[in-house]
Amino acid sequence: MTNQEPLPKEPKESKGFFKRLKTGLSKTRQLLNTDIEELFSNKRKIDDDLLEELEELLITSDIGVQTAMDLIQSISQRSSSISDAGQLKDALKEKILALLGTKTPPPAPLAAKPYVIVVIGVNGVGKTTTIGKLAAKFAASQKKVLIAAADTFRAAAVEQLVIWADRAGVDIVKHKDKADPAAVAYDAIEAAVARGADIVIVDTAGRLHTRVNLMEELKKIKRTIAKKIPDAPHEILLVLDATTGQNALSQAKMFNDAIGVTAIALTKLDGTAKGGIVVGICNALEIPLKYVGIGEKIEDLQEFDPDLFVDALF
Ligand code: GDP
Ligand code: MG
Repeated sequence: MTNQEPLPKEPKESKGFFKRLKTGLSKTRQLLNTDIEELFSNKRKIDDDLLEELEELLITSDIGVQTAMDLIQSISQRSSSISDAGQLKDALKEKILALLGTKTPPPAPLAAKPYVIVVIGVNGVGKTTTIGKLAAKFAASQKKVLIAAADTFRAAAVEQLVIWADRAGVDIVKHKDKADPAAVAYDAIEAAVARGADIVIVDTAGRLHTRVNLMEELKKIKRTIAKKIPDAPHEILLVLDATTGQNALSQAKMFNDAIGVTAIALTKLDGTAKGGIVVGICNALEIPLKYVGIGEKIEDLQEFDPDLFVDALF
């Protein structure tokens, strides 16, 4: 088994990268910035009214009530040194970065071959899309990728994944409609070993008749993969939709309790003014936020970088 390099990061100075993140976050940025400017338009000092309005604004951006209160408290402690919107934003940036920084360790290297990622999450959050984007990212860094179509619940789900595999230029293992998802995963692992693939990404269903069924199915997929490679899956990637706000947090708790989640991908940050949920997720969960999705195109997935995120936010 060889140790592999982590995904090469796009250089921070890469303009396109930051620009896309900024564009993706534009709704949240507009909300925060416009309103913070307004807070100061007829006031020159930080007072209780202003702090209260700021707290409401942060909660609107879905940063979470407790986090908003913590931020307000630290702003109020430093209020004498803050006299304009720019200084207030700088203080918020610093504080938010401190919150994010401690909770997001750098991604671990892909230290197994094949490295197996099982992607889970409720219907419509962006699992299949994220898998396509991820596959393209890995393929671009010369990894041999294999995708497993273990969402066999609808035929359309497999077709959609086939299109993404084509786009990303990677192999896919699929069975017939309504096949046993665990069997698909097993075959994919077997094929990956036989073909010397570096990475296997397993797509799963998000909607079954009951929640219990879904969790049991995911557990079975996990067990079946481990029969072939005992320390796999190496990553259980939970996909969450940023536009669902605080609901994303309860999904994370539910999946983590049932299956165990090792990393989060947060999608659709481009479609929401609730980008503060990033802070909520980093703060409320012990699971690292690994990727953020900022659009529907193949290049619209990035490794989460707290510095870039905060810079793009204000
Ligand atoms: P799944 O049911 O979890 O597999 O979700 P899909 O991958 O099928 O995605 C559901 C919808 O969300 C599709 O229309 C995707 O194009 C869209 N989508 C996924 N990720 C993003 C994103 O980061 N931004 C936007 N705007 N749309 C996204
Ligand atoms: Mg899907």
